[in-house]
Amino acid sequence: MDSERIPTVNKEACIGCGLCNTIAENTFELGYDGKAEVRDPSGDTEEKIQEAIDSCPVNAISWG
Ligand code: SF4
Repeated sequence: MDSERIPTVNKEACIGCGLCNTIAENTFELGYDGKAEVRDPSGDTEEKIQEAIDSCPVNAISWG
């Protein structure tokens, strides 16, 4: 693995369903605005983070 990939959340798209922080709980958390944010970009394995990205119902999470 050459470079660490960083996930980002598009807060305008996020509906605060909480799925991403259920799947990758060390990476994502819900902020005071009820929307997801990145707590620790390398908090979980890339596979877990990818699973969270794939599970987001509004495609609000992306790499980069
Ligand atoms: Fe927001 Fe998507 Fe995470 Fe749900 S899975 S809280 S919509 S970023």
